[in-house]
Amino acid sequence: MPINAALTERSNGCCELCSSTTDLSVFEVPPVKEPNSDKSVLVCSTCLSQLEKQTDMDSNHWRCLNDSMWSQVPAVQVTAFRLLTRLSNAGESWAQDLLDMMYMEDEQKAWADYGVAADEIEDVAPTRDSNGTVLVAGDNVTLIKDLDVKGGNFTAKRGTPVRNISLTDNPEHIEGRVNGVRIVLLTQYIKKMPLFEDK
Ligand SMILES: [Zn+2]
Repeated sequence: MPINAALTERSNGCCELCSSTTDLSVFEVPPVKEPNSDKSVLVCSTCLSQLEKQTDMDSNHWRCLNDSMWSQVPAVQVTAFRLLTRLSNAGESWAQDLLDMMYMEDEQKAWADYGVAADEIEDVAPTRDSNGTVLVAGDNVTLIKDLDVKGGNFTAKRGTPVRNISLTDNPEHIEGRVNGVRIVLLTQYIKKMPLFEDK
């Protein structure tokens, strides 16, 4: 059976995310090597344009995920999970509440996470230290040269540890506390500390 027909039958001719019956088309849930109905969802044009990031997320529209996240169709669950993650990252706490309630089999969770990771790579360039190691919030780093702290009236010595860093919107900056002062550091002057330090 052609994918479109299989999906129309599965969904009773409704958008599988918001139940709209207008302007339906097939959305393949990445990654798709061989398109088939198990890897696709039938969606309306409103859902599709936001799924494909052609229009901004309309959080009111996505209240529909409240229902569709409970779909028995793995491709729908995975799509709902990815959308809720995007909404949650945009500060929608209700989306996080729904995510907390969601249950998926390991295989579906891995599929869902694949899309979340791809979104993150697309959205932000990773923050890297002077060696090119990717940094995440909470990492510990050390300074690789003496730095004059403007406004702090001190020099942060090479080798100074900076624990529990925060990332910023700029991949070349991190924030951390040196001598009790919260400062912005350039990533070119820091090095990630190994997870387990020798004391
Ligand atoms: Zn829809």
